[in-house]
Amino acid sequence: MNETDQRIHLDRLLCDEMLQGLARWLRAAGYDTATVERGTDDRGVVESALEEDRMLLSRDRHLRHYRRLQGHLLLLRGNEEASIVAELNATTDINWMRAPLTRCMRCNGVLRRATVEELTRIPSGSRDCVEVAWVCPDCGRIYWRGAHVPKILRKLEYFQSLEPMSR
Ligand SMILES: [Zn+2]
Repeated sequence: MNETDQRIHLDRLLCDEMLQGLARWLRAAGYDTATVERGTDDRGVVESALEEDRMLLSRDRHLRHYRRLQGHLLLLRGNEEASIVAELNATTDINWMRAPLTRCMRCNGVLRRATVEELTRIPSGSRDCVEVAWVCPDCGRIYWRGAHVPKILRKLEYFQSLEPMSR
């Protein structure tokens, strides 16, 4: 049997409070990634994952006791970004280049192309060379080539290249 057949399929995700940074990068890669609100107790976290049909990513091993979470829980061991990414590369079918820049890194909103009017919100120093930009309809953040975009893509390519770390 092919090793990849056993990998966990990732689609809709929920990151716990400790993994907010990871959530931003999962969104950048194009994954629909919600985050748990600060102060939510374990039970609330479990309910969110099940109600919204999301895979819960967490380092909290206590969550294993919630049998209902079976198939909805991915426990991570790593503490640093690179080790968590390597862990995901080893255990899941994650594709860091799945659909870059389709989701807002800040709030998970679905990005759309900015209108000509919205382009005027880009600081005048960088606006001249901007032809294309994306805007988040939920929080209003603008992403444009020249500022965030190359950095984001470089980071995703780096994540994609990290050797899977066996458990
Ligand atoms: Zn947003």
